[in-house]
Amino acid sequence: MEITHWLHEVGGKQGLTSNVFLINKEILIDLGTKDNANLLLQNLKELNVSPEDIKKVIFTHIHYDHTGDPSKFPKAEFFASKEEIEDLAKYGAQATVTPSAYADIKGIKLNPLTELEGFNVIHTPGHSRGSICLEKDGVLISGDTLFNNNIPGRIDLPTAAPELMKSSLEKIKGYKILCPGHGTCTTK
Ligand SMILES: [Zn+2]
Repeated sequence: MEITHWLHEVGGKQGLTSNVFLINKEILIDLGTKDNANLLLQNLKELNVSPEDIKKVIFTHIHYDHTGDPSKFPKAEFFASKEEIEDLAKYGAQATVTPSAYADIKGIKLNPLTELEGFNVIHTPGHSRGSICLEKDGVLISGDTLFNNNIPGRIDLPTAAPELMKSSLEKIKGYKILCPGHGTCTTK
């Protein structure tokens, strides 16, 4: 589904899978759950995007419902915040929530995301210590930090930073279109 000319939502929609956003037909934000990987590839194909076209995969955070099946994207570099990479090393499957997601992601090289051309990379610790949001032209890709109807993400999972959630939400108030990690994109 096209959100705006540079942004599509391409995730599968069965079960707990997260949204997957495609930027400029070459960058994916999150991958959903692993069992939705084939549906994701099918959605990309409908946009004439092959797995090899994906140059970067950026995780808003590394919970299992966002990390999918990285092996499907052979040409991609993978990114998450420095804090998520640290917590993956330190807490293993607690950081991904499920052991199977940990097994799928521990073997890939995760690079620390410092910037993304054309976007504001906003550090929003809370739902997880290393959660990030991405903003461009008033479009906010919010991961599990903020959902529709101003509902914040949960802060009770192992790598959460509950005490920082309030200030993180303050940082992301100025959006026009919200594209959350679950649910539809909505205009403010
Ligand atoms: Zn999450």
